[in-house]
Amino acid sequence: PAPDPDGAKAVSERDRAHVFHSWSAQDQISPLPIAGAAGSRFWDYQGNSYLDFASQLVFTNIGHQHPKVVAAIQQQAARLCTIAPGFANDKRAEAAELIASYAPEGLNRVFFTNAGADAIENAVRMARIHTGRPKVLTAYRSYHGNTATAISLTGDPRRWANENAGHHDGNVAHFFGPYLYRSHFYATTPEQEAERALEHLEQTIAFEGPNTVAAILLETVVGTNGILIPPPGYLAGVRALCDKYGIVYIADEVMAGFGRTGAWFAIDHWNVSPDLIAFAKGVNSGYVPLGGVIISDAIHDTFRNQVFPGGLTYSGHPLACAAAVATIEVMREERIVENAAWLGEHVLGPTLRGFAQRHPSVGEVRGIGAFWALDLVKDKATREMLVPYGAGGPAAAPMNAVLAECKKHGVWPFTHFNRLQLTPPLNMTEAEALEGLTAIDKALSVADEYAAA
Ligand code: PLP
Repeated sequence: PAPDPDGAKAVSERDRAHVFHSWSAQDQISPLPIAGAAGSRFWDYQGNSYLDFASQLVFTNIGHQHPKVVAAIQQQAARLCTIAPGFANDKRAEAAELIASYAPEGLNRVFFTNAGADAIENAVRMARIHTGRPKVLTAYRSYHGNTATAISLTGDPRRWANENAGHHDGNVAHFFGPYLYRSHFYATTPEQEAERALEHLEQTIAFEGPNTVAAILLETVVGTNGILIPPPGYLAGVRALCDKYGIVYIADEVMAGFGRTGAWFAIDHWNVSPDLIAFAKGVNSGYVPLGGVIISDAIHDTFRNQVFPGGLTYSGHPLACAAAVATIEVMREERIVENAAWLGEHVLGPTLRGFAQRHPSVGEVRGIGAFWALDLVKDKATREMLVPYGAGGPAAAPMNAVLAECKKHGVWPFTHFNRLQLTPPLNMTEAEALEGLTAIDKALSVADEYAAA
């Protein structure tokens, strides 16, 4: 598209005059005006286009503007834009049936929400009522959303400012999940890491009081906090601890679900069956806001003759559900989940592992499917992080420089603390992936300079 600097200026002026942005000091940001997007790319008004290696906030799993999903939204809009959640609706029912068909056996009902945080919020509500217990255990390295309970459940520093503001659910305790590269357990093998992380979790249960714990909530593969893939045996061990103590196992698949890891749900890789699965994002590639909770038959039984005290005006919105049905059909027809697995195994994995051999700043490469992170370090021997845990502002300068260099070369990844995270659309082509990786390779030389400094 032809550059349109006046268009950009008009959008920016209105934006800065009236839009209050997430997670930001309002005077310290200048959001880039976006003119359009298609497939794996989006572009600004200045004639710059970017390969979307973040899938926005890890949600455009089928890329931008998929014509079949756009058409399904248009058709639904012409037929019935909306109807209250108390009615039965064809697209809502079809979406629920499709979503449940990909969940493990025995999870057959779906409660729809508007996004991920309220999915988590309602999963926890179900677990607390089902068990009659108050507490939820979650990992320090986690993000679960930004409503009051979801931000308290979050382990990472986004929780702190909210706690200081009194925006806080007190019935939450955190623990360390497995992370072999920076093991909290002095482990040196995945087996040791799994075993010791499970011992630590069981001790946490014991010290919190088993009869007070309603749920353990875990991102199946930790997303924003580092693409941490559970070692063999860990999730089965969590399931066993939940069974032993009568605790509900909630899998947060908001980011990892719907193909991101090369499986419909990330739990499929480990063959475990949680009691509740929270989803959002990839369910309809974020074309219309949608999230939800997939519910086990046992928890559903609790609410057969007892009122579930939760609801949302737009629960199961027909436009969002029509988009989900179309997205899932497209993912099936175009073998998009299989493509994510293929990209991980044949393109992203091998290329990124090559970077680790050539770049002194690349400490560890982790990933599965289209879900990857580079753990950047100052020194490979000590594994000192390129920027410290929680770094923002000037302390994050090296990471900001790497990110800026990626963007200069036409690639848009995302960073979190010392990690460069690469989460492209699952249907990105091999050629696009290689184009983006070449740019990232160049940008890593900036990280290497900081590592050497
Ligand atoms: N859970 C996980 C694992 C997430 O990554 C996110 C968002 O990034 C959420 C929950 C919250 O989802 P939302 O921002 O849609 O409320």
